[in-house]
Amino acid sequence: MKNRIFNFNAGPAALPLCVLEKIKESFINFNESGMSITEISHRSKFFDDVINSAVLRTKRLLKLDDSYHVLFFQGGASMQFCIIPMNFLHGNKTADYVNTGTWSTKAIKEAQLQNKKIKIIASSEDKNFSYIPNNIHYSHDAAYIHITSNNTIKGTQWSKYPDTGNIPLIADMSSDIMSRPFDSNKFDLIYAGAQKNIGPAGVCLVIIKADMLKNIPDTLPTMLNYKTFVSKNSMYNTPPCFAIYTVELVLKWLEESIGGLEKMHEINKAKAQLLYTTIDSSDFYSGTSELKSRSLMNVTFKLKDEETEKLFIQKALENGLGGLKGHRSIGGCRASIYNATDYNAVKTLTDFMKDFEQTYG
Ligand SMILES: *Cc1c(COP(=O)(O)O)cnc(C)c1O
Repeated sequence: MKNRIFNFNAGPAALPLCVLEKIKESFINFNESGMSITEISHRSKFFDDVINSAVLRTKRLLKLDDSYHVLFFQGGASMQFCIIPMNFLHGNKTADYVNTGTWSTKAIKEAQLQNKKIKIIASSEDKNFSYIPNNIHYSHDAAYIHITSNNTIKGTQWSKYPDTGNIPLIADMSSDIMSRPFDSNKFDLIYAGAQKNIGPAGVCLVIIKADMLKNIPDTLPTMLNYKTFVSKNSMYNTPPCFAIYTVELVLKWLEESIGGLEKMHEINKAKAQLLYTTIDSSDFYSGTSELKSRSLMNVTFKLKDEETEKLFIQKALENGLGGLKGHRSIGGCRASIYNATDYNAVKTLTDFMKDFEQTYG
């Protein structure tokens, strides 16, 4: 492939071209330091400015007040599955989990492996995780409630977040963070692996309310304790400097080129609508998640059989449209249309889908 393609990968996923071009420059000489961004010290003023700017941009974009800390972890979102129960579930405390797909299931498993007490208060497993459950009843004494805001593999997304009152709400927002505005004050902990919507693999954004730090035991391993990251500005040890740098550039693009989350959401809605309308107006393609639970980020659909799907994915790539294969666990097709995949990419895809249907339908 000589040219860049339209990239519909689920993660690692597309990054804005202007960010990649900036990286290219900083890869040799970052900010006139005479060193690559991959060569500078994390203890330097150069890097301090990068991480502090990434924190400030996150706070501005999500309208977080001073009661929140913004942290950068390694180990991906999967590491958070394990350290959340480790930090917040002790003694007789239990936590509520809502199971909406593969990633929720993995979060639940990590709590159970540690013999933590958890309750699955709602699940959409009965219909192959094709919807987001509603009318959920929360336990009044739960240490926290855990949800997955967007289900990357099944293509479902919470449209309205639950009101959990005084019970801390924790969300895995790996695949839709920064895609739309939301009431961040409802949440006590948010985490997101960067490689879907805000950067490259190698860093996980964590937003935590100061109150959550109160009951964390000091006996936890240093690197698995949220308090370590708060007290050291995520630099107790060497942080993933390059990944954090890229996140900062993506957030800068969101703020300064796109104009914030309201604008981003408008674009994301237009992209999703174009794609879902194309799917719904044909008998050749069929959407796999329930209408009111559909994700604006991961659009999952099927064709009449596996063979046709294979051909579709192959012909799409020949036309410069990549990453359309569904997750290996469920098959089918999936177009991930994160922030950095622009309207033109989706338009090109829908034009291709119509042509493909004419030829093979
Ligand atoms: C990709 C993904 C994960 C896993 O992220 P890693 O960074 O690979 O651990 C977890 N949750 C959701 C919702 C995801 O999309």
